[in-house]
Amino acid sequence: MHELSIALSMIEQIEEQSAKHPGTVRSVQVKVGVLSGVDAEALRFAWELAREGTDLAATLLEIESVPLLVRCPACGNTHTPDIQSILCPRCITPEQDILAGRELMLVSLEIDS
Ligand SMILES: [Zn+2]
Repeated sequence: MHELSIALSMIEQIEEQSAKHPGTVRSVQVKVGVLSGVDAEALRFAWELAREGTDLAATLLEIESVPLLVRCPACGNTHTPDIQSILCPRCITPEQDILAGRELMLVSLEIDS
């Protein structure tokens, strides 16, 4: 399962970060883009499996879903396209630069000390 390896590597990163900041990691915030290929529910489930037996066994995972955002290379217009049509609504240029929607990132940790 794709999401399980993601959850495991998140735990590794978090343990590295929290080693520098003694305390209990209460919650973790992540951003998941709609084009990242990661399913938020599957990630939540994988997180619950992956955190078992670690120092993060009681840490909450907060997932923020990031919508797709593109920029038209012809006119500079930015918009959130429909999945069926990525055309720039202003000038109808078909190829758009993706600005947001592909990310999968750890945003912050909340640590009680
Ligand atoms: Zn345009």
